[in-house]
Amino acid sequence: MIVVIDGPAGSGKSSTARAIAERLQIQFLDSGALYRVATLVYLESLDSRASFFDRLKESDISFYFKSKKFHSFLNGVDVSEEIRKMEVSNNVSKVASHPDVRAHINSLMHAEVEKDVYIADGRDLGTAVFPDATLKFFMVADLEERAKRRLAEMKEEGLEASLKKIKENLAARDHADSNRKSDPLKQAEDAILINTSELTFEEQVSQIAERIRQILPENNH
Ligand code: C5P
Repeated sequence: MIVVIDGPAGSGKSSTARAIAERLQIQFLDSGALYRVATLVYLESLDSRASFFDRLKESDISFYFKSKKFHSFLNGVDVSEEIRKMEVSNNVSKVASHPDVRAHINSLMHAEVEKDVYIADGRDLGTAVFPDATLKFFMVADLEERAKRRLAEMKEEGLEASLKKIKENLAARDHADSNRKSDPLKQAEDAILINTSELTFEEQVSQIAERIRQILPENNH
């Protein structure tokens, strides 16, 4: 069973989904993290003669959710922090716009979610990847608010960034993600819209968690 949250960059999808997974004791899948790992492969391929797609197909991308954190690995190395760097953020939408990359990441996700109850966040999960998801949410927030939240998160992780640069990056990614040909960012017709600009974190987590709790299998209550 899978519940999905889609929405623009920095709208709070991942942190909300993570908190809900923790509260309801279900699994969490951060699809953006997988595109970020693919972007690391792309950046590494710039310095080598092997083509990016060959490298991607040969790469071992793995992940798990533990202790409130989504851990991602590239060829056995934990890259969870590296994938949050600005260089990755500035290249990820270009990498993610390629249909072959999307097909590769989508197959990794499909294989994973068969195993358990999942909440996943992304851009096209409700429209393209999991059109039959049990529940779908679409989360939005003002650009200024999203940039402030992202800056606070990055500071907490000890990463350097400025509000201006983050705003530019979020706006550029939203534009690229919404206008690409393959599976653009779009609200699914049957998704529930959540505007978090004026909600506290606790309010947004509780609103969504309550709806999920109602449809969870008996043994997850
Ligand atoms: O969620 P996050 O902001 O980390 O995602 C990074 C990028 O990965 C997005 O800007 C988008 O280009 C890509 N992405 C995507 N489809 C998804 C999730 C993320 O194209 N389902």
